[in-house]
Amino acid sequence: MEKILQVRNLKKYFPIRRGILQKQIGSVKAVDGVSFDVHRGETLGLVGESGCGKTTTGRCLMRLIDPTDGEVLFGEEQIDFCKLTQVELKPYRRRMQMIFQDPYSSLNPRMTVGDIIAEPLYVNQVLNKSETEDRVVNLLDSVGLQKDDIRRYPHAFSGGQRQRIGIARALALQPELIIADEPVSALDVSIQAQILNLLEELKEKFQLSYIFIAHDLSVIEHISDRIAVMYLGRIVETNVAHEIYHYPKHPYTEALISAVPMPDPKIQKGRKRIRLEGDVPDPSSPPLGCHFHPRCGYAVDVCAQEDLRLELTTSESGVACHRRDELSLQGI
Ligand code: SF4
Repeated sequence: MEKILQVRNLKKYFPIRRGILQKQIGSVKAVDGVSFDVHRGETLGLVGESGCGKTTTGRCLMRLIDPTDGEVLFGEEQIDFCKLTQVELKPYRRRMQMIFQDPYSSLNPRMTVGDIIAEPLYVNQVLNKSETEDRVVNLLDSVGLQKDDIRRYPHAFSGGQRQRIGIARALALQPELIIADEPVSALDVSIQAQILNLLEELKEKFQLSYIFIAHDLSVIEHISDRIAVMYLGRIVETNVAHEIYHYPKHPYTEALISAVPMPDPKIQKGRKRIRLEGDVPDPSSPPLGCHFHPRCGYAVDVCAQEDLRLELTTSESGVACHRRDELSLQGI
């Protein structure tokens, strides 16, 4: 299948500065050598606890922040977004759009819904006025809102409806790839499923590809084709979704899966919840060896001594664990 995005060894280091001269004394390795592919028409779930670097990865892909190193190759042309200036990036930017986490703060409260959705069209001078209005009305319909909503303001809408507005805005320029950064985590559980279903429908309707960022595996269980699990700025396991959920190979993945609730109470009762001790370590001074070893229930001596990075195999699956071939971990 054609690859719409190839990310290679992406890094984002934030300098730590101190003193009157603001001398750099270290760096926070928020993203530390991340590589993955997104195929056209698929949804890649990018998952990990808060602070693991998944949102920073998404922002680097969009060049909302500049990466420290690496390649972001987009489309058949394999344009490297990291090498383009902001001006050179402009014609490509419309092909990749982002949906943000917080539908309350991501919409300008002084703009009407129509103007919010139309703004990318005005900025890119894509359509004339009447074509723009037609496009906005069609987009409102696509996301389940009414034509009359065009003249209303964001405060008149619920959280779920605001996220629909954000989705319509992201679709305005007819992108090929959408990065959805925790698009349902600020919403009530009852509304989350509606938005996830909407995103699935839109994927089919507009032949989209998604990178879906989430902090737990339950949200992306039914919509991801493949999953990449991030821990402390690195991908520690990647595979097709079925393998990740049923046959995890990395202890961190196993812990995330153990938190996914099962609809059948009998099955749920028989499952063991793995509670990780402590928080994600400080990315400015990660633990030696495997970065997960202070929290890993399977750690042995080598884990604290030898660092390891995930090397993608040709089948695009991989596990960064010294004990990957000997552990038998619990899936769903
Ligand atoms: Fe756990 Fe060791 Fe594997 Fe790291 S390398 S995940 S510490 S078993």
